[in-house]
Amino acid sequence: MTILVTGGAGYIGSAMVERLRAEGMDVVVVDNLSRGHRDAVPSEVPLLVGDVSDEAFVSSVFAEREIQAVFHFAAESLVGESMENPGKYFRNNVGGVLTLLQAMSAQGVRRFVLSSTAATYGDPDTVPIVETAPNAPTNPYGQSKIMCEQLLRWFGEIHGIRWTALRYFNAAGATASCGEDHDPETHLIPLALDAAYGRRGALKVFGNDYPTPDGTCVRDYIHIADLAEAHLLALRYLETEEFGIFNLGNGKGFSVLEVLDVAGRVAGKPVPFEHAPRRPGDPPTLVASSEKARKVLGWEPKYATLESIVESAVRWSESHPNGYEK
Ligand code: UDP
Repeated sequence: MTILVTGGAGYIGSAMVERLRAEGMDVVVVDNLSRGHRDAVPSEVPLLVGDVSDEAFVSSVFAEREIQAVFHFAAESLVGESMENPGKYFRNNVGGVLTLLQAMSAQGVRRFVLSSTAATYGDPDTVPIVETAPNAPTNPYGQSKIMCEQLLRWFGEIHGIRWTALRYFNAAGATASCGEDHDPETHLIPLALDAAYGRRGALKVFGNDYPTPDGTCVRDYIHIADLAEAHLLALRYLETEEFGIFNLGNGKGFSVLEVLDVAGRVAGKPVPFEHAPRRPGDPPTLVASSEKARKVLGWEPKYATLESIVESAVRWSESHPNGYEK
């Protein structure tokens, strides 16, 4: 069985490739390398450099290979950027899914697993968030993923594509070979570690007047290896089921200040920080109920504590002091 992993040179996609290969599966990666790294893809895995919105390129990928399923990671994923450049998010995220679904329909490929996001929920009334909570995104990133899920529904109904949308909360941590190397880096944990080790100045805490216990935003951090495992289970689920939406998180919320405290303890040095204005588009609290994924998929996150997640990130940054080769 050949699995197409789009965005397989990226942070979560590369962990997926690693997991699939451990399972003995045949993998091919499509990535435009806009944010991903060639060195994140093992040399034995074919890396087709191109854009998922490029119809001719995507059609040729499916025409030339016996692809049985698609894991789709290649997308824009920054809340802050989406508030400045919404068009990029709608064009690339929605356009990418549409192009893939059209090519899959033409070639009779029937299984699709979407990287979706907790940003679809916006600022929910009830926490932890269940999958039936209303879609009410506070930023174009979340809106673009809702639109992707809507496309899936219609391609499922009309072309028989089976699909799952996995709504991640905050992806974090590293495996031995796959870690976080974004340019520019915008995510809290790698920035906190950089600040602790003096690789950059004080971390800016975006907002301290949110309706949360300490006034800073609360998020649910989930390890990339646990996310990859959930994708594999989602693929198996599609052997018998037609579609499903699942939240993926640990079910525990940590405020920005709590994350800085854990990062400082794990690093052995405090994280210097200063307060800064809110970042537009950020909802105050996002914490998952992953009961559905646990019950229906049989998913059990292995990295249940924030300490273990941050420790894995520290190990990766020690073994990759300059990230991937540039
Ligand atoms: N955050 C922060 N300072 C930073 C980066 C992030 O205060 O330099 C906050 C951000 O506002 C959010 C949380 O940390 O409340 C997690 O942000 P991140 O960008 O890591 O993930 P997101 O929640 O946007 O997916």
